[in-house]
Amino acid sequence: MHKCPKCGHESFSKSIKLSHGPALSKECENCHAQVSVPYWSALIMPLTLTKLFILNRLHLPRWLRLPIPILAFTFALFVYYKYVPLIVKLQEGEEGYMRQKIANAVIFILSISLMCSVFYFS
Ligand SMILES: [Zn+2]
Repeated sequence: MHKCPKCGHESFSKSIKLSHGPALSKECENCHAQVSVPYWSALIMPLTLTKLFILNRLHLPRWLRLPIPILAFTFALFVYYKYVPLIVKLQEGEEGYMRQKIANAVIFILSISLMCSVFYFS
């Protein structure tokens, strides 16, 4: 179980990080805070894809073409599961709400730009 970042109660199942992206949130059953993952976690998959596109350009031996993407995605999932924290999603009117919204928008744009540039240059 994962602890609520606000009250510390073990309210969330182990699968919450994988089933809930940064755009979704889930309510803590104890303190009713809306909990989610930070938007920077959305950068992990585009970075993994970028890595794979760069590796693809290196003309690796044929026998490495399947294991490398599998390892890269397994590693990305491990990093996501192990190091992405749960955060309290601030509600309108709470202190820091606008800062969190702006940071999320910037990271979202960076993530989309990264994905687009990878597909454009590949
Ligand atoms: Zn809580």
